[in-house]
Amino acid sequence: MVLPELFIIVPCYNEEKVLPVTAGMFLKKLTQMIADGEVGENSRILFVNDGSKDGTWEYICGLAKQDKHFMGIAQSRNRGHQNAVLAGLMYAKERCDITISIDCDGQDDMDAMSEMVAAYRNGAEVVYGVRSSRETDRFFKRFTAENFYRLMNWMGVEIVFNHADYRLLSSRVLNELEKFQEVNIFLRGMIPLVGFPSAKVYYERHERLAGESHYPLKKMLALAADGITSLSVKPIRLITGFGFFVAILSFVGVVWSVVQAFLGKTVPGWSSTVSILCFLSGIQLLSLGIIGEYIGKIYMETKRRPRYIISETTEDGKQGD
Ligand code: UDP
Ligand code: MG
Repeated sequence: MVLPELFIIVPCYNEEKVLPVTAGMFLKKLTQMIADGEVGENSRILFVNDGSKDGTWEYICGLAKQDKHFMGIAQSRNRGHQNAVLAGLMYAKERCDITISIDCDGQDDMDAMSEMVAAYRNGAEVVYGVRSSRETDRFFKRFTAENFYRLMNWMGVEIVFNHADYRLLSSRVLNELEKFQEVNIFLRGMIPLVGFPSAKVYYERHERLAGESHYPLKKMLALAADGITSLSVKPIRLITGFGFFVAILSFVGVVWSVVQAFLGKTVPGWSSTVSILCFLSGIQLLSLGIIGEYIGKIYMETKRRPRYIISETTEDGKQGD
């Protein structure tokens, strides 16, 4: 079997403290994988500089001069982790058979890469790296992170629990991912939409080896909000549901106020005022919900996502092998 060429995609933002520690570890792992016959000779480590303001890019350039396995690309400015990963994936797409995206801070266990490649060679086109435990995270980080996944799922975004952006993708998947033309990207939610056979590899998440996290609570909430609004129209659906509920209550209110008037328990004018108020507010919320449904449809249409993705045909000789 021909060995797959692997590109390891490493986004870096202001990481001059941690790169000198982890770059050597990445190289060691990759050269080991090449030596063990897991991946091909043309495999590379591709750093994506996400508009760093420190010496990260200079450091990456130095690495590329030192060893041919190191490569770097730089974004014109800081665009955020998700965009940096996507830039790396798209750059690598034509140059390799598989990519593995991984953070540069050494938190994700590099040894899991071998297992990912093995899963790929067993037929998986997507391999999700899943954290087996969060013991190294502080309580607060663990609590917020785990509830982030629950909230996302409840909001109708299909994501793999405790999987971040450590994953293997085949070039077929990358080619299909390219067709997802949306600007607000949340890769964790998009990859399951692409489909294809997938597998999971469990790994231990370590402490950051140096430097500081760029994902404080504020950014994590922003990421969650982005993920939900980019992938789900469930918030709109909740408004519609609420609109129905209020509309029904309001119509009951109309009947009640009229009954009260007939029973003579009211002052003149009260029933008509309450009826109008209930009726109009019910109608209004319901209408807003219905309009929202259409806006949700328009929103999803504007993304112009592929309507289908074919994985196999009987013509390409893949059947039964
Ligand atoms: N990162 C990036 N652009 C950003 C923020 C972060 O490319 O605007 C990279 C960062 O260099 C790291 C990865 O994304 O490789 C994850 O960031 P971090 O370790 O700070 O997040 P945490 O692991 O704490 O969630
Ligand atoms: Mg990190």
